[in-house]
Amino acid sequence: PARTRFAPSPTGKLHLGSLRTALYNFLLAKSTGGQFLLRLEDTDQKRLVPGAEKNIYDSLSWCGISYDEGPGVNEAEHGPFRQSDRTAIYQKYIARLLSSGHAYRCFCSKERLDGLRESAQNLMPPTTVSYDRNCAHISENDIQERLKRGTPYTIRLKSPETYPGFTDLLHGSLNMQPQVNAIDKRFDDPILVKSDSLPTYHFANVVDDHLMEITHVVRGEEWLPSTPKHIALYEAFGWAPPEFIHIPLLTSTSDKKLSKRKGDADVMTLREKGVLPEALINFSALFGWSPPREEAAKNHECFRMQDLIRLFNLNNLTKGNAKVDEKKLWFFNKQYLSQRLQDPVQADIIASDLLQELHPSFPDLKLCRLKQILNLVGSSLTTVKDLQANFHYLLSKPQFENNQFVRDFIQKQDLRQVQSVLQQLQGQVTEHSDLLELIDRIAQNAGIRKNVVFEAARFALAASIPGVKLPLLVDFLGAEETNTRVEEALD
Ligand code: GLU
Repeated sequence: PARTRFAPSPTGKLHLGSLRTALYNFLLAKSTGGQFLLRLEDTDQKRLVPGAEKNIYDSLSWCGISYDEGPGVNEAEHGPFRQSDRTAIYQKYIARLLSSGHAYRCFCSKERLDGLRESAQNLMPPTTVSYDRNCAHISENDIQERLKRGTPYTIRLKSPETYPGFTDLLHGSLNMQPQVNAIDKRFDDPILVKSDSLPTYHFANVVDDHLMEITHVVRGEEWLPSTPKHIALYEAFGWAPPEFIHIPLLTSTSDKKLSKRKGDADVMTLREKGVLPEALINFSALFGWSPPREEAAKNHECFRMQDLIRLFNLNNLTKGNAKVDEKKLWFFNKQYLSQRLQDPVQADIIASDLLQELHPSFPDLKLCRLKQILNLVGSSLTTVKDLQANFHYLLSKPQFENNQFVRDFIQKQDLRQVQSVLQQLQGQVTEHSDLLELIDRIAQNAGIRKNVVFEAARFALAASIPGVKLPLLVDFLGAEETNTRVEEALD
C-alpha cells in the first residue's frame, strides 16, 4: 500500500495543476489500499495568502478528495500537519545535521551573497550555483562568538561533491548535477534553515516525508531539479528516500470560459461557473494518465472517482506535457449534468439551488416550473448557467431588445407579413389545438410558405432564439401564455 501526501503551500487558490497532483496522490493511495495525507507547507511566511488554506480545504472537499490524515484529522501519530506548527521538530533535526557535519551555519551578509551571485553570472560558463562555501571553514570558537553577538545566520547543507543519482518511476534513472565552474569553484549548498529560523521547503519537505512515512511522492515536474538536493538530504540523515513520480506540466488552454491565462483556472471559480465535481475530477484525471484503452472506448473516457480508483495505475502515466483540452471538460459536464438530472433526488437539489440563484432576476419563478424547464431542456445544457443564457424565454417573457436573433429576423422578414401571420394566430391556440395543423391552415389561407409562419411564431414566443421546438414550446407555455405572447408581439 502506498502512503502519499498532497503538500500545497497556501499561497493562492487551488488550480487545476495542483488538483491533478492531489488527485493522483489520492488515487495512488486508494488504489493500493494505502493512506492519503494533506500537509500544509506554510513556512514561507512572506508568500502566505489569507484565505488560501480554506480554499484548499473547500476545493478538496468539494471534489471528494478526502484525507486520512491532515490538519484536524488524525493528527496524533504523525501530526501536526501544518509546517508552521512543526518548528520544534525541524530544530531537532537540523541539530543532527549540524553535529554530523552535513550542515553548517552561514553568517554571510546579504551584500556578500549578492556579490557572489553576480560574479557567478559572469563566469564562463555562468552558473546559478554561486556560494563559495566560506562559512564552512569558520572555527567553532568563532561560531560561538558570532552566535553570542547575535549575528544572523542561515544553515546550509554541505552538498556532496556529486549529487547521487536517483530513479523516478516515470522518468527512469536520472543523474542531475548542478553546473559548476572548474576553476572558480562554487557550491550549491542549499539553505535548510532561514535567518528567521524557519526551515526552507527542501528541509521541511524531506524531514516531513520521512517522519510521516510517505512511500511515494507524486508531484509536478517543476520539482525535479530539487530532487537531487532532497536525495542528498536523505543520505545525510541516513534515511531511505521515498519513490518519486514527477508528472508533466499542464499546457495550453484557449477557452475563455475556463481561464484567462494558461492553466490558471481554479477549482472554486470553476464551481461557480457551473462545473460539476465529477466532471472536473474526470477531466483532471486525464492530464498525464490514460486509462486502459478498452475501458476508455467503452464509455467515452467518462470515469467517476470509483472507476478511477479501480483503474489507476502508475504504469499508465504519460510523460509528455499534458494538454488541457477544455472542450473535454464541457463534454464531461454535459454528460454528468444530464445524469444528475435523471435522478429525481439530484434533480431536486439542482433545481432548488438554481431557483435561489435565479430568484433575484426571476422573482415569480416557481420550483415546479423550473423543474419542468429542466426536464424539457436539461439534456442540452453544458452547465446549469446555460439555462439563463440560452433559454431565457422559458424563464420569463421573451426579450426583444439587445437580441441578435431578433435583429436578424427583422432584417430578413417582411414585417407586414409577419404581422398578418400573428394576427391570424392571435387567440387561436387552445389546449386542444394541433399546432402543426394550425400553422398549415394559416400558411394555406395566406398563400405563404409554412416556414414564414413558423418563424413568425418563434419570434413572438421566443424572441427568435432557437432551441425548444415550436410544438413543445407551445405545450410548455400553455394556450393562455402562448396567446398572450402573440398578442404582446403585435404591440
Ligand atoms: N509545497 C510544494 C508545492 O507547493 C510541494 C512540492 C512537493 O510536493 O514536494 O507544490
